[in-house]
Parts: sequence; structure tokens; C-alpha cells
Amino acid sequence: MNSIRENLERIWATLPPHVKLIAVSKTKPAEMLLEAYEAGQKYFGENYVQDLMSKQPGLPSDMEFHFIGHLQTNKVKYIAPFISCIQSVDSLKVLKEINKQASKNHRIIDCMLEFSIAENDSKFGLDIDEARELLTSDACKAMQSVRIIGVMGMGSFSDDMARTRREYKKLKQIFDELKTEFFAGNEAFKEISMGMSSDYQLAIEEGSTMVRVGTDIFGARNYQE
Ligand SMILES: *Cc1c(COP(=O)(O)O)cnc(C)c1O
Repeated sequence: MNSIRENLERIWATLPPHVKLIAVSKTKPAEMLLEAYEAGQKYFGENYVQDLMSKQPGLPSDMEFHFIGHLQTNKVKYIAPFISCIQSVDSLKVLKEINKQASKNHRIIDCMLEFSIAENDSKFGLDIDEARELLTSDACKAMQSVRIIGVMGMGSFSDDMARTRREYKKLKQIFDELKTEFFAGNEAFKEISMGMSSDYQLAIEEGSTMVRVGTDIFGARNYQE
């Protein structure tokens, strides 16, 4: 197997300059994250609060963690002191809690709205009408400690690339509509997080600005969620 550094260098070489690589390190030990960091990787994606909490304290403080898994409201407080970005915001309730905990920590936390775009399995995520309702709510407008920087979505688990492409087109369209309706003059709202090991090139063709790659960097995981 190639080293983590070789895998990263191969992927970096294919990414246009406007696309950020999020190295998805869920379930992987801290030593592997450190190896990626020492090779020059800055952004890491984690899905599980406990897994992240057990690794983060021993790692360099300028490693930037993006939370990409389903986030329960009662767990926000654990990651609020250090998380760079929470990509998986799928309700007003969780956004309110992030705002509250960010404020307690005297921080502003970057957030992304997660959309349900998969045509077959779509457990988590908003649809566009739910996002409109969230964004027009008084609670959301009053928030001082979160900054919404874009949208995130997961494609179907399948090798039907035509379907994946349709799903990614849909997320790009959602981004464009929200940009026009709510964020026209807002430079921070610019990110479209889509694409994983099996399809990140296709996602970039469809407008991705952040790809979340795990297996292609760190190897297969012991279990698939
Ligand atoms: C695990 C995961 C990824 C990375 O998947 P790979 O196929 O290993 O690249 C990306 N996004 C989310 C939300 C994930 O849970």
C-alpha cells in the first residue's frame, strides 16, 4: 500500500486551487492524522464526537477539524471549544445550540447546511424549503456566533455515476438558489462540500469547493457507516 504522504500528494496534484481537501480520518488513530499533518495536510473531517475527543487533545493545535457526521444537540458543547467548521447542520435546533456554545467559548463557528440529496438513502439533511424556513427564522437572524459558509451533501452509496452526478447537480442548484435568496452580498457563503474517494473528480466537475476523502488517503476502514 502507498504511504499517507504518497496518497495525499497524488490527490493534491489533481485538485484545482479553489478546492479544499478535507482528509476524513474517522475511526483512524491519531498517529495517522499526525502523519498526514506532517505531510502538509491541514483540514481533517471527523464523524464521531467521542472518537474526535479522544484524539484531538494530543494533536497540533493548528490542525483544523471539520465535523461531518450527524451531530446530536447534547454533544455540541464538547467540540465547540476547538472545532473549525460544522458541516452537518441539519436543524435549527442544532444551529441554536452551536450558536450558544460558540458564544460561551467566545468564538464564531463556521457552519454549513447539510442537504439530503441522495435519491435512495437519505437519513439526514434538510430540503430547500426547510432551509428557507431556518434561514428566515428570527432565531437564525439573531445569531452572532455562527457563520454559515455553504452547503454540504452526501451522494447515494452506489456505483451509478449518472445518479451521483444528478445528486451533485442538485446540491449546486440548492447552493445557487440560497446564494441568490439569502447570501447575495455575503462573501463567506461560498462553499459546496461534496465528493468522496470514489467520486470527487465528478463532484469537482459539478462545482464542489471541498472534497471529503477518507479511504483514498488512509485506506479502508474496519466498518462502513
Ligand atoms: C466517511 C465519509 C466520507 C469519506 O468517505 P470515503 O469514501 O472514505 O472517502 C465523506 N463524507 C462523509 C460525510 C463521510 O461520513
